[in-house]
Amino acid sequence: MAALTCEVVYRGIFQKNLAARIARGIVLSSRKAGRWGIAFGRYGDSPQRNGIPAKDFAIVADTKEELEQNMARYEPKQVDVTICVDDTLAKGVESWAWYGLQPINRLTAPNGTVLMTSLQPIDALLKDIHQKDAPWTLSLLRAKASFSGLWVYKEDHTEARILGALAKIAPNFLSLDAVCQAIQESEWGSDLKVASARKAHDRLESRAIKPGQGNAETPYAFEMPRWWEMREGVTIPAIPIGKPKEGGKGYVPERNPYFKKFTTRTMRPVIDFDTCVKCNLCWIACPDSVFDVMPDGTFDANMEACCGCGVCEAVCPVENCITMVNEQLFEDNASQWEMWRKDKAGYKAWMQDKIGNKNATVRSHGFRFRGQYEQELKQDLDVGGVEITAGIPGENAEHKTV
Ligand code: SF4
Ligand code: SF4
Repeated sequence: MAALTCEVVYRGIFQKNLAARIARGIVLSSRKAGRWGIAFGRYGDSPQRNGIPAKDFAIVADTKEELEQNMARYEPKQVDVTICVDDTLAKGVESWAWYGLQPINRLTAPNGTVLMTSLQPIDALLKDIHQKDAPWTLSLLRAKASFSGLWVYKEDHTEARILGALAKIAPNFLSLDAVCQAIQESEWGSDLKVASARKAHDRLESRAIKPGQGNAETPYAFEMPRWWEMREGVTIPAIPIGKPKEGGKGYVPERNPYFKKFTTRTMRPVIDFDTCVKCNLCWIACPDSVFDVMPDGTFDANMEACCGCGVCEAVCPVENCITMVNEQLFEDNASQWEMWRKDKAGYKAWMQDKIGNKNATVRSHGFRFRGQYEQELKQDLDVGGVEITAGIPGENAEHKTV
């Protein structure tokens, strides 16, 4: 008797259908392999919100009895395979119902596998993925974060590729033939998808990761209130007011310690402090009270609190003063303002490197300015269609005046 438990960690509304297809595909493949399977979802309280991490689970078992035993658990405490289809989640995932940041491999069992789609090499991913005290395997499918299945995005075969890769990781549960048969027979099946599954099976890169390898940071955590500390009824205390910064200058707002933190973000703001006109708009508009007022009157986005919504970029009136950049280009949450204060020329070079990278500034979702959709639609129709990733760094610049 044996069972295979998989989790599919994904980003809220973008990848909801994709994750459901993967979990469903695992169950269908298990039936073709003569086994039993079930798939189910567990969310935070807001899985439909843009980008919020959520999870699906799939369990495959040799027998019905074994499957029932596993189903009796509300949520698996350990999984054999963690599937992650957005590598910005490699830094950890957080949803309100999960009590703070969880490393992406937190539930991965000793000798289990994390299967990721990413264009980054394994070494780069390991800078983000937290260490474990048991060995595990990192398996990599070369692909960018997929929103396959979302109504505005085309099919990119991600679900078929994940299933093909899984057949390589757990051949005793899902043979490649069983996976291909399931893909062929399901309503989203096609010969092309079967070919994609086979290619992914052949091309999967895997590396054994030793205990202690990976990101050495201590994962974010906070104390849960004890039962005797809880108040009667539902009370929501206001956030205390903040404190001044150096020498009484500047201001650091207090932030809600229980509110979701930085792991929900796929992009982060990069700020040009030299061109900031101190207009306050980013500070006023940020929905998460992220900005610290610095002693010189500029505004530093605190990366421990920023959710990456892009509102600050949208409201900033200065050309290229705030630019959203893909999260995978950053390795820590260090203060940009401190970096700028220490070495202005060095900061400028660092900033240009980030915002000049066309691939890194393309919006993974949403728009940079009001009316962009209508504008792009017209342009696309005029030229007969463009690639979805054809963004331009600072593309909002022409829409701004100081
Ligand atoms: S992207 Fe900007 S507006 Fe949004 S949470 Fe971060 S700092 Fe605030
Ligand atoms: S909105 Fe832009 S210009 Fe205004 S304070 Fe913020 S960063 Fe500076």
